Amino acid sequence: MTESIRNADVLIIGGGLSGTMLAVQLLRLPGKRQILVVEPRAELGRGEAYSAVELGHTLNGNAARMSVDPDNADDLTQWLTDYIGAGGWPESGQQAVPISELFPPRGIFGLYAQQRLAEAKAQSASSVEHVRGEGVDLQVDEASTLLTLDNGQQLRGRFAVLATGMFPAARTPQTESSGLNAAAVDPWDVQAMTLIDPQAPVLIIGSGLTMVDAVVSLEQAGHRGPIEVFSRHGLLPHVRRQPPSWVDFLGEDHRLRSPLQLLREVRRQCRIAQAQGIDWQAPLDTVRAHIGRLWSQASEREKRQFVRHVRPWWESHHHRSPPLSAQLVARLHEEGRLRIRAASYKGLVPSVEGVTIRLRHRGEQAVTQVSGAALINSSGIEYDWRRVARPLPQQLLKRGLIQPGPLALGIAADASGAVLDAQGQVSQRLFAMGPPLRGMWWESTAVTDVAIQAKALASKLTQI
Ligand SMILES: Cc1cc2nc3c(=O)[nH]c(=O)nc-3n(C[C@H](O)[C@H](O)[C@H](O)COP(=O)(O)OP(=O)(O)OC[C@H]3O[C@@H](n4cnc5c(N)ncnc54)[C@H](O)[C@@H]3O)c2cc1C
Repeated sequence: MTESIRNADVLIIGGGLSGTMLAVQLLRLPGKRQILVVEPRAELGRGEAYSAVELGHTLNGNAARMSVDPDNADDLTQWLTDYIGAGGWPESGQQAVPISELFPPRGIFGLYAQQRLAEAKAQSASSVEHVRGEGVDLQVDEASTLLTLDNGQQLRGRFAVLATGMFPAARTPQTESSGLNAAAVDPWDVQAMTLIDPQAPVLIIGSGLTMVDAVVSLEQAGHRGPIEVFSRHGLLPHVRRQPPSWVDFLGEDHRLRSPLQLLREVRRQCRIAQAQGIDWQAPLDTVRAHIGRLWSQASEREKRQFVRHVRPWWESHHHRSPPLSAQLVARLHEEGRLRIRAASYKGLVPSVEGVTIRLRHRGEQAVTQVSGAALINSSGIEYDWRRVARPLPQQLLKRGLIQPGPLALGIAADASGAVLDAQGQVSQRLFAMGPPLRGMWWESTAVTDVAIQAKALASKLTQI
């Protein structure tokens, strides 16, 4: 017997931070709506980032920068003050800084998101229910959307929102698999790190924030052997400091359009700051507010230029490391235990013991081999949905309900998040938010991006 179809006003597909914040914002609006959040994990509000169990896996921004409430920048600081006051996160007492300057563990941030959801639920006439499962197929007609879950259950919504988040390369089955993930240790599998011989060499591919998490876990697990990190440019994330404010030079000058003009001007501003003894992070932090506008008005060619020439620099300067993790990486580097080299991964070599990989060092033609006891894939996020071997992205592509976004980064949508189908038609029923819109805004993943988008999309959905 087939189960009856459940109906809702809004189906939110994915209950990480994006889906949960959208639910919070919908709950806060007047009216009475039924909202179903489809999420395979046991808890809402955590997703990939805030399911972290390692205390050393912290936010990469301090509390004052990570509010989920676009109308109250102090929201996380206030919550954290109460949480610590009630005996939560006792280790924070070891850091002699104000609460607003603490970098909370991501697992604790997940509790904060959950509490904001619980409060919004308690005060709303609308309802939110967590339906546990993975959405595997979606059909859309003029009046509604129909989602099929992996257990066969079907949900109908007036609207559906893709809040499916990030597809970290290390955890995402690829349509064309290189076998890397089968051979590698999951960068967030804290338990697996304890099984690595503490003195044996570990190889890590990728040198961004996922690598930093992996190094923190290795250290915590008692690993004391060499760590060899390889990434195309060999750049480490800079440490996040608390720079003073700086003039909003991009807000004042709208003539800057091309990525190269932007890069030149940012560098000039950084030099001016440094000449005055001010941290270069001060001018750089003003760019954030303009990056969506600059990206969306850039031509396809300029976007390509940015990705090719500026992206590595942007990633290491903008996506900065929390201070305690950065200190650890710097110490291991100084001690010679951690080495970072600019090299491209070229494949695995079958080996009976440990793991051997093929690499091409930057500026060299020859491919060399390196062996270690274990390999960690920290190569970042898979943004190209055509390569993500999960049922929903593949079905959406097959049905022509989505098309790849600019440069195949996520999916295409209009400025409100309404998804574009394969013919370029703007959907009246299907929306997206957060990381799937990377190609539309360049930065569409961080806590603040997600919080702002959730508020705007909730308002849009209640006005159609
Ligand atoms: C390890 C890590 C650390 C990060 N740290 C920071 C940080 O410190 N600061 C910051 O600003 N940002 C950080 N980010 C960025 C982070 O992605 C965002 O802050 C935010 O968590 C994005 O939330 P999301 O819900 O869009 O994505 P996700 O957290 O990826 O959640 C998406 C959810 O959708 C679910 N899902 C996917 N497909 C389906 C489906 N077909 N059906 C049902 N459910 C589905 C998944 O199970 C998942 O729970 C980090 C990201 C990662 C991966």
